[in-house]
Amino acid sequence: MKYYSTNNKAIKVSLREAVMQGLAPDNGLFMPEVIPQFSSDFFKSLQKKSFQQIALEVTQNLIGIDLHTKDLERIVSHTIQFDAPLIEIEKNIHSLELFHGPTSAFKDFGARFLSGLLGHFASQQNEEITILVATSGDTGSAVANGFLNVPGTNVIVLYPSGKVSAVQEKQFTTLGGNVRAIEVDGTFDDCQRLVKQCFSDKVLNTKLVLTSANSINIARLIPQSFYYFYAYAQLKTERQIIVSVPSGNFGNLTAGLMARRMGLPVKHFVAATNTNDIVPEYLKTHRFNPRPSVQTISNAMDVGNPSNFFRIVDLFDGNVNDLTNFITGYSFTDQQTTDVMKKIYKEKKYVLDPHGAIGYLGLKEYLRMNSKEIGVFLETAHPAKFQDVVSTAIGESIPLPPTLEKFMAGKKLSTRMSKEFEDFKSFLLN
Ligand SMILES: *Cc1c(COP(=O)(O)O)cnc(C)c1O
Repeated sequence: MKYYSTNNKAIKVSLREAVMQGLAPDNGLFMPEVIPQFSSDFFKSLQKKSFQQIALEVTQNLIGIDLHTKDLERIVSHTIQFDAPLIEIEKNIHSLELFHGPTSAFKDFGARFLSGLLGHFASQQNEEITILVATSGDTGSAVANGFLNVPGTNVIVLYPSGKVSAVQEKQFTTLGGNVRAIEVDGTFDDCQRLVKQCFSDKVLNTKLVLTSANSINIARLIPQSFYYFYAYAQLKTERQIIVSVPSGNFGNLTAGLMARRMGLPVKHFVAATNTNDIVPEYLKTHRFNPRPSVQTISNAMDVGNPSNFFRIVDLFDGNVNDLTNFITGYSFTDQQTTDVMKKIYKEKKYVLDPHGAIGYLGLKEYLRMNSKEIGVFLETAHPAKFQDVVSTAIGESIPLPPTLEKFMAGKKLSTRMSKEFEDFKSFLLN
C-alpha cells in the first residue's frame, strides 16, 4: 500500500516513509492510496470475532502485504491489550468505552500501534529512533506508555511546567527506561515550537533519526478504525447505525469515516464539539474558518484549527454536498456539558467524562429527529481523569482506576529546561 499527500496525490510514499515523516514534505497529510471494502463474509462473521481478530483483519486490509503477518500480529497484540466495551445506557443509546487502556483515554490505541510500528522499523536498522512529542497532557502520557521498553526507540516528552494536571504529569515522568520528560519553563506552544525546530535543524538530523508522534501521523489513525467495527460487532444488529464522535483534531471521526469506506454500515455521523465549533460551523455554512481555540472543561477538544479536517474533505473527494449530507455537526457549552453529566448520573447512575458527555449530547440531538435509529457515542476518557469537573457536576468524587492509581505512587523524574532551542539541542546531542 502506498500513501499519498492530501496536497498532491502524485506524491506517494511507502508506509515506512509515511510513518517516519508524519507530515508530507508539502505539508499535506498522508492517506492510504486505496481503502479496500470488506466482503460480505467479513460482516457475516463479525459478531463471532474477537477484538484482536477484527483489528488484525482491518490492519491487513489497510497495510496489505507491506509487513509479514507475524509482524502485524505482534503489533496488533501490542495495541489491543484492553477491551472497548459497549454499554447501553438508554434504549438505542450506547457508550463505546475507549478508556480501559494504560492511560485511560482512547489515545492509547493510536500511541500503542504507532510504537509497535516504529519498533518494527527500528529493528530493521542499526540506529535508534528518537520520538519527540510535545504535550499539553494526554498525548504525552499515551505516547510515553506506548513506547516504554520498545527496543530501538527513545521518547522525549516536552511539557509546560506547572500547566498539566498532577495525574497527567505522573503518567509520563515516572516511567524511566527509554522515556525522558523535559519540563519546559514556558507554554505548550513553546514545547511545540521546540519540536518543530528540531526537524529543520541540519546538525540534529544528521546525528539522530528523529520522528514525531503527534496525531497527524497516519499510524495513529489506522488503529482508531478498529473499535468502530468492534462496536458494531457488539451491537449484534444488521441495521445501519448512527455514530456520534466528540471531536477536537478530528482524528477519531476520520478513522470512523475510513471504517465506513471499508463497508461498516454507518448511516450517519455526528461531529460533536465544545464551543470550539469550527467544523459544525463549516457543515452549516460550507466555510472553514480556523481561529484561536477557547478554553473549555472538555480541554482535549480545545482545538481551533483541526488538523485532520483536510483528511475528511479528501475522503469525500472534495464533494462538499456529500460531506455535509453525511455528517451533522453540533456544539455544546460547558453548562450543557455539566448539566448532562449530572442528569445521566442521577437517572442512569452512569458517569460521563466531559468529552463523552458532548458525544452523548450530539447523539441525543440527532436522535430527536430520527428516533428509530440505533446510536453509539464514543466515551473517550475515564471520568476520573477530570476529577474536579466530574465531581462538581455529579456531587460525588469518583475513585481513580487502578491503572492511574499506580502512576500516582511513582517518583517524578524530569529535566527542567529553558524554552531556548539551543539548550534543548545541546541536551539532545549529549
Ligand atoms: C484527543 C481527545 C479527543 C479529541 O479527539 P480528536 O481525534 O482529536 O478529535 C476527545 N476526547 C479526549 C478525551 C481526547 O483525549
